[in-house]
Amino acid sequence: TDLKFSTTLNPTPATPERRAQIHAQPGFGKFFTDHMVSIDWTHGEGWHDAGLIPYGPIQMDPAAAVLHYAQEIFEGLKAYRHADGSVWSFRPEANAARLARSARRLALPELPEEDFLASIDLLVKTDQAWVPDHASGESSLYLRPFMYASESFLGVRPSKTVRYLLIASPVGPYFSGGVKPVSIWLSSTYTRAALGGTGAAKCGGNYAAGLAAQLEAEAHGCEQVCFLDAAEHRWVEELGGMNIYFVTKDGTLVTPTVSGTILEGITRSSILTLAGELGLKVEERPISIDEWRAGVASGEITEVFACGTAAVITPLGALAWEGGELEIPTGEVAMKIRQSLLDIQYGRAEDTHGWMRQL
Ligand code: PMP
Repeated sequence: TDLKFSTTLNPTPATPERRAQIHAQPGFGKFFTDHMVSIDWTHGEGWHDAGLIPYGPIQMDPAAAVLHYAQEIFEGLKAYRHADGSVWSFRPEANAARLARSARRLALPELPEEDFLASIDLLVKTDQAWVPDHASGESSLYLRPFMYASESFLGVRPSKTVRYLLIASPVGPYFSGGVKPVSIWLSSTYTRAALGGTGAAKCGGNYAAGLAAQLEAEAHGCEQVCFLDAAEHRWVEELGGMNIYFVTKDGTLVTPTVSGTILEGITRSSILTLAGELGLKVEERPISIDEWRAGVASGEITEVFACGTAAVITPLGALAWEGGELEIPTGEVAMKIRQSLLDIQYGRAEDTHGWMRQL
């Protein structure tokens, strides 16, 4: 497209001292860089007014459609600093494609891939001092592109004006005390998505709808929820914000098929590709909760792990449900895959798949 980005620099950026303070203890999604990118869309006109602007609060009319009908989608990806100081993102084209799929489902306009990539290049270049140092271990700059219905109108129909924003947050390792297995609650009260619904889209409403299940998990002493399918309450789908993999004793990775109700994770897809190279077989197929329970009991399932951009790979250590619980063994496979993904992302291993894009 011929979208041109204007630049308005922040007159009061964070001081190097303040930035160092934040980098020392970034947490996750708590602090934001000095700038953001904004692009407007108007029905009949398309995308316009693209620009880099100071990070800050946005003006919104109380009647803005997003506040009432949740017409909103988002993405999540990271920029990593390599040992030579260069900064790279991981498969951003896949995020652009997923944002476009989410847009179609939520009746929002598609942002062309080149404009999505240009927004990331511009923000990360401008705020590159915010990308954590290579020596800081698993730290990175988390990028959050999102798009929302901005029209002031209380009718239920697709908004005629939309805004795309990109913000960035320096983040530390997801697990500050090192990777430790998480406990999972199997909700029988709530489901996440039904066929024909929005499960395959990354829209805010999916996460709002999962919060009650998350509270239920915490009330039962668990850290995360695993959702089953809505029709039969039998098939394992995914966690609230991560996909799931099972490892069997013959070295096969099994992950549920994405058939419309599961978010197609970029980490999930990368593991499908990497598995063969690590000498593992992979299967995408439906897996039932009975197979999970029986497999752990018999020793057929040797590991279970979750995967996503934020935490990379996390072993699951326990499964609990109304009336029972099960300890899940942990092993080497999840951590081996985790390491090989991190080695690519941080530039320690050759990028044979062309996944890294220099910023
Ligand atoms: N499932 C859900 C519901 C998610 O929110 C995420 C995070 N985007 C994932 C899976 C993992 O996706 P990715 O590997 O692209 O981060």
